[in-house]
Amino acid sequence: MNRAFNFNAGPAALPEAVLQKAAKECFNYNGTGMSVMELSHRSKDYEEIHFEAVSLLRKLLQIPDDYEVLLLQGGASLQFSMVPMNLLKRKKTGYYVLTGSWSEKALKEAKKIGQTSILASGKENNYKSIPDLSGIQVQNDAAYVHITSNETIHGTQWHKFPKHLSAPLVADMSSDILSKPINVQDFGLIYAGAQKNLGPSGLTVVIIKKELLSLSEDELPTMLNYRTHAENNSLYNTPPTLAIYLFKLVLEWVDSIGGIEKISKLNQEKAKILYDVIDNSDGFYIGHADPDSRSHMNVTFRLKSEETTAAFLTQAKENGFIGLNGHRSIGGCRASIYNAVPLEHVIKLADFMKSFKSQY
Ligand SMILES: *Cc1c(COP(=O)(O)O)cnc(C)c1O
Repeated sequence: MNRAFNFNAGPAALPEAVLQKAAKECFNYNGTGMSVMELSHRSKDYEEIHFEAVSLLRKLLQIPDDYEVLLLQGGASLQFSMVPMNLLKRKKTGYYVLTGSWSEKALKEAKKIGQTSILASGKENNYKSIPDLSGIQVQNDAAYVHITSNETIHGTQWHKFPKHLSAPLVADMSSDILSKPINVQDFGLIYAGAQKNLGPSGLTVVIIKKELLSLSEDELPTMLNYRTHAENNSLYNTPPTLAIYLFKLVLEWVDSIGGIEKISKLNQEKAKILYDVIDNSDGFYIGHADPDSRSHMNVTFRLKSEETTAAFLTQAKENGFIGLNGHRSIGGCRASIYNAVPLEHVIKLADFMKSFKSQY
C-alpha cells in the first residue's frame, strides 16, 4: 500500500524506515521472543534502548554534560505546569513572550502557580510575527523567560533566540526540536512533546541545566519534581517504553541520513517550495505569517474567500492530501512539514496548489 501524503500537525508523519524496522522487530525484539511493549522496563534489553535514546539525543543536539535529559509523560501541556512548579519561587516572576495559542496556554498555567508577567506579545498583530526583544530587559526578580520556539497553530518560528536576557531561557520546542541546529547552552530548559518531530505521542523530552534542579522543592508531588526523574534516569516509575523505543529509532534515522545539519537543509528546502508557491501566486494564496517569522515546520495560509479555501481543502482531500485544515481556532489551511515528511510529498503538494490555482 502507498503511504499517505500526511501533513498532520501532530501526531504526525513518522519516517517510513522507522515504521518498517518497528514492524520487523515487533514479534521478537533482539531474540527475546517478545515485543518491546512486553519487556520489563527493568530488563537489560529495555535499558539499552532507554539509555541509547538519551545518548543519541545528546549527540545529535550536542547537549553539554551540565544538562540532564529527562524522558517524561503528560505531554508538553504538563510542562506548562511543571516549569513554574519547579522554577518559579515566591517573590520571583515568570516572564512570558506571547506568540500564539501555545504560549498563551503556558502562561495560563503558570498564573495558577505564581507571579507572572508578559514580556512581549504579538497578539495585537494577530500573531503574524515574533516580537523583537532587542532593547527589552527583564527585572532582577525574573525566575525565567518562557518562549514557544515554533507556534504550531499560527505558523511562526523564532529564527534567532534572545541571548541578552539575564534569566534562564525556557523554550517549548514541541514542534521544531531536532529540525535545525540549536545552542543548548543558550537555554535553561527545553521541553517538547514527541509527536511532531521525535516519535509518537506519550513521551515528553525535557532538557534541563543541572544547576536549575536544585530549585525543585521536596514538597512538590514526587512525579512533578524534575529532581525525581533526574535522580532515577527517568526510570522512577514505568516509562512509556514503546514511545521511547520509537523515539530511539527516529533518532537513529536522523543520524543515518546525515544528522541535524542535513535535516535542517532539507527542512529549509521543503519550506521554500511551499512559500514560493504562496509568494508567486499573485495573492491567490495568502500566507498568515510575516516572511521573517515564517515557520519551517507549519506553513499556514488561506485563500481569498472562505468558499475557495473550502474548495481547496475538499479537492486536496480528494487528491490524497491529509491534514491540511488549519487549526479549528484560526481556520484556513496548514501544511505541517516536520522532519519525517518526505521532500517528494511537499513537491506533490506544491504541484497540486499550482494546478488548483490554474483552474480558478
Ligand atoms: C503540540 C504542542 C503542544 C501540546 O502538546 P501535548 O503533548 O499535546 O501536550 C504544546 N506546545 C506546542 C508548541 C505544540 O506544538
